[in-house]
Parts: sequence; C-alpha cells; structure tokens
Amino acid sequence: MKIDKAVATHVRVPFVEPFRISSGCVAEKDAIVLELHSDGFTGYGESSAMAGRFYSADTPEKSWSELCELVLPAIVGREFECPQNWNLALDGLRAGNFTKAGVETAFWDLAAQSRNQPLHIALGGRKDQVQAGLAVGLYDDLTDMLRAIERYLVDGYRRVKVKIEPGRDIDIVNAVRSAFGDIPLFVDANGAYTPEYVDVFRVLDEFGLLMFEQPYPGSFLEELAELQQLVRTPICLDESLETLEQLQEAIRLGSFRIANFKIQRVGGFYRALEMDAICRKHGLKAWVGTMPELGIGQAQGIALASLDNFVYATDVEASDRWFQDDIVNPFIQVRNGTIDLPSKPGLGVSVDRTKIQKYEIASRSFSE
Ligand SMILES: [Mg+2]
Repeated sequence: MKIDKAVATHVRVPFVEPFRISSGCVAEKDAIVLELHSDGFTGYGESSAMAGRFYSADTPEKSWSELCELVLPAIVGREFECPQNWNLALDGLRAGNFTKAGVETAFWDLAAQSRNQPLHIALGGRKDQVQAGLAVGLYDDLTDMLRAIERYLVDGYRRVKVKIEPGRDIDIVNAVRSAFGDIPLFVDANGAYTPEYVDVFRVLDEFGLLMFEQPYPGSFLEELAELQQLVRTPICLDESLETLEQLQEAIRLGSFRIANFKIQRVGGFYRALEMDAICRKHGLKAWVGTMPELGIGQAQGIALASLDNFVYATDVEASDRWFQDDIVNPFIQVRNGTIDLPSKPGLGVSVDRTKIQKYEIASRSFSE
C-alpha cells in the first residue's frame, strides 16, 4: 500500500450535555479526522484526545501539530505492507498514542478495504453484534444523574457505569442501587483516589459491583495490587495500561483482574491486539473503553469489541447519546442493548463529507 495523499481535519461537535469526570469537564468533542488515500481507496481514522487535560496529557492541539509537522509528511509517498510495518514506522516518529491511533487505524481501514473484508474480520473478531454499556458522568444533582440513567436505559444498555470522585462515591452508588435495584453496575474513578481512601472501596465492595475502574492513578500499580488484595470486587485498569511494559508490570504485581482497552490510549489496533494476546495468556478478560470518540472511533471500538476475549459490554454507545450530531452514516445505534457489526468492507460506515465541513476548525492536505 503506497500512501498517495493524507488529509487531517480538526472538527468540533457539541456534546448533548457537558461531560464531567473527576479530572475536568468538556462541552464540545474535538477530534482530528484522518484520511489516507491509496490505490483508489480512502481509509479513515480519528485522533480523539479530549480538550484540556480531561483524560490524559494528550490534547487536540498536540495531536494536530504532531500530525501536520511530523507524522503525515513522513508517511506520504511511502509503501507499507503489513501492520508490523506501519507500526514500526509510526513508533519511530515518537508522536503521542492518540496521534498515532488516528493514523494507525486508518491504515487498517485501507488494508481491510483492499482485501474486501470488514474491519472486525480483519482484526480477528467473530461476533455479529456486541453488547453496549451506558456510562454517565458526574452531576451536581443526583436526581439529574438518575434521570439521565433512566432516559438511556430504555435502549437496553447491558450495564451502567458511574463516575466517582472523593466525597461523591458511596452516595452515588447508593442512589443508583435504590432507584434501579440489582442492575449490572460499576464505578470509574479515573484515578482520583489514593490509598488513604481505602475505606471508601471497602464500603463499595458491599454493593456487588462488576468492577472498580482505575481507583488510583495510573502509576500506582503496587498500591492497586494491595487494594485488590483487600476487596472482592475486581479492579479494572484503564489509565494504567498505555504500554506493553505497563501491562506486563501490572500483571506481575496482580494490580487488576479486568482490562479496559482504549484504541486511542494504546495507539491503535496493533498494540491493542498485542495487549489482548498477553491478557488472554494470563486468563484476564477485557472490554473496549471509549473517550468517547465520534463515529469513526466508535465504529472502530465495536470492531475491536468483536474479539472473543472482550467479554464485558463496551463503552461504545449510540451516536446521539453523547453528540448533537455525528460525522458518520448511519449513526451508531443501540437496539436492545446491542450494536450490530457492519458487513461492508473496511470500517463499514460512511464518513459524511458535508458534516466534516460543517464542523471543521482546520484542515491540511499532504501529497507527494
Ligand atoms: Mg475509565
């Protein structure tokens, strides 16, 4: 595959309502849509860091400059044969994982199209549909949070995840259990706690939650292992698992029992598949998390979630759950708590050029 042309377009789409977690709040979804052109095919990807430092040190501005100054000029005009090949090239450029993910996944879309194969089949997935889970952010008023859960649960989402932070945790879980009973439920702290809060997790351990997602910061692997010794609820790692080395260290220490893989955080499909293979070897189950991304990233999430070891419901939700609009046709839809995998070659959804233009902040094109 020779890359004839590459285009990056920074888009900004308003959220349905501001999304708040323990580290910040965002009202608009930034994403950089990547197009790679090769031999008449167009492969799409999405570099989807959140604005500010909402989730990680990666930001849309950092990805934009890495893509335009470093990554896209380096790949245009070059030949790439296989995933190892383009990952080697991208890893040598030392761009952030969110930046890399947009380009790396666009390569997979191209490769799947050229083999006339749906993306999820190219990745090794075997499911026809995946289970979708509902996630809700932090709300000032618990009644508003319960109303949001109620509004979306009618789509049949298979589990609910609530965000927590110190001082707003046990009351949140209590309120959800009181309102909705014994539904599959878990909490995501986005690393907001330290071991001094261990008693909060001892109390939450009594609520029959599916998992505690990232209770302590990403680097606290030893402390997370100590916490896992104290509670029955499985610990799930998200922010901790950026690299193969971090994953192996977390396994060695016993820091978790469930892995959340985000395509953006790990820098694309190839690394996600490598990390999943390591988890399978150790009997550790996984699921696919999201930022959330716009429709391109969400469609990629569904494709990854179709692999056998992704046994828990994904964070991928319906397009209109998060965004006032989306850039793909058709929108991602959740019916009876599941999302169907598309059967078309490649990503399987169309990217809407009119929408890209409508939400464009900046665009740059690179050709030979
Ligand atoms: Mg998380």
